[in-house]
Amino acid sequence: MKPFSDKVICLGKVTYSESSQIVTLFGAEHGKLRGIAKGARREKGGFSGGFDLLYLGAADYIPPRGSSELGTLTNFYLENSFVGLRADLLSLNSALFLAEFTADMTEDMDPHPELFELLSRSLSRLEAGEPAPDVILNYEQYLMENTGHQPCLDCCCLCGGETDSLAHPYFSSSAGGLVCDGCCPSVEEKRLTERKVVDLLRKGQLPAEGHADIIIKAHGLLCYHKRAITGRPGKVMGFLNSLLLARMNRK
Ligand SMILES: [Zn+2]
Repeated sequence: MKPFSDKVICLGKVTYSESSQIVTLFGAEHGKLRGIAKGARREKGGFSGGFDLLYLGAADYIPPRGSSELGTLTNFYLENSFVGLRADLLSLNSALFLAEFTADMTEDMDPHPELFELLSRSLSRLEAGEPAPDVILNYEQYLMENTGHQPCLDCCCLCGGETDSLAHPYFSSSAGGLVCDGCCPSVEEKRLTERKVVDLLRKGQLPAEGHADIIIKAHGLLCYHKRAITGRPGKVMGFLNSLLLARMNRK
């Protein structure tokens, strides 16, 4: 594959050498891109506008060759650093969580242009101070749908039986969604959820009271699902959820 340019958001970076970093980018047209950014830590070079997590800009990228999994990021032209995000702990960690979620749930070079647009919009919304739980849940749901990981919440995903009458249905990631009381004993991995959470995720239906708490609980269920799918919680998820929980308990 030939070198190309794409609009990207930086999802992750780790130091590789004195002057280089290994970066994970989300490209508008090409999906997740991983590569070595040579000279990214130097003053001069192709990254003179600066380069950091959540930065949005245009990138020049050389795809991996042979058996290598890493390509090369040769240039980056900064367009938006979302500087306002960095002033607020919850907004910043929510944004970092969306980046981590995207990196963990998408495959290299698998394009998701609508998801890219939503990620960019979600970062702007967080920067503008919109409620973090709303922005997070909206993005998580869309990402799961867009990547084919949306759980089945309409009925029991094993037997097709109804689950609407259950106030506290069980949810199992390995089974693919809700499980009815009859199927429950045959499933080892599961967790109890509640009707209000299921109704929110399924129909976008919010209860008359306690909106924020149900949104946070619905996010918690999707975190559980994500952890089961990827086999890892992610570095940001734990800290973000402790911030959200503290906010929920403060009221
Ligand atoms: Zn069943």
